[in-house]
Amino acid sequence: MENDYRSGSAFGREATQEKRMTPFINLFRRYLREQGLPITSQREAVADVVFGTTGHLSVEDIEGALKGHGERIGKATIYRTMEILVRSGLVKEHDFGEGFKRYEHLFGHQPAHDHLICTSCSEVIEFQSPEILRLQEETARRHGFLPARHRLEIYGLCASCQERGVTVEYHGLTCPVDLLN
Ligand SMILES: [Zn+2]
Ligand SMILES: [Zn+2]
Repeated sequence: MENDYRSGSAFGREATQEKRMTPFINLFRRYLREQGLPITSQREAVADVVFGTTGHLSVEDIEGALKGHGERIGKATIYRTMEILVRSGLVKEHDFGEGFKRYEHLFGHQPAHDHLICTSCSEVIEFQSPEILRLQEETARRHGFLPARHRLEIYGLCASCQERGVTVEYHGLTCPVDLLN
């Protein structure tokens, strides 16, 4: 497995210094090994970008970050690596209705969080609410329901888009809240 590593043994020390990867990469390596999948330097580079940020990355974002590090890795390889990362449970996949997926790793500062998504600039704001969690548990209990996971996404406009004068567009739909005002 080691022979796929880019660093030659003669320059091993220099190479590891230059390639300081996040410690989470070891979990990904272990998963690949367990699954009998090759540990390639390309897969490692993709995973390193994802683990190195707490944002919600698209494949384009990942490709751009890799390019910034001087790595040219094709979209197909990035997609395949992301599939494996999602399957491994180390990375979560989001569909914010933009026509493409976004990814975030699960070692961020906020273990269980929900999202506010700006439909104008695509900013994603994370929030945690103990009240919402409590309400969910209560609701589930009242229905004799055993909850496994939940998802809450609030779509709208972020503060800076509102400041810039952007207004909400309803594509054929009228917001019921708006009707009440
Ligand atoms: Zn915005
Ligand atoms: Zn998130």
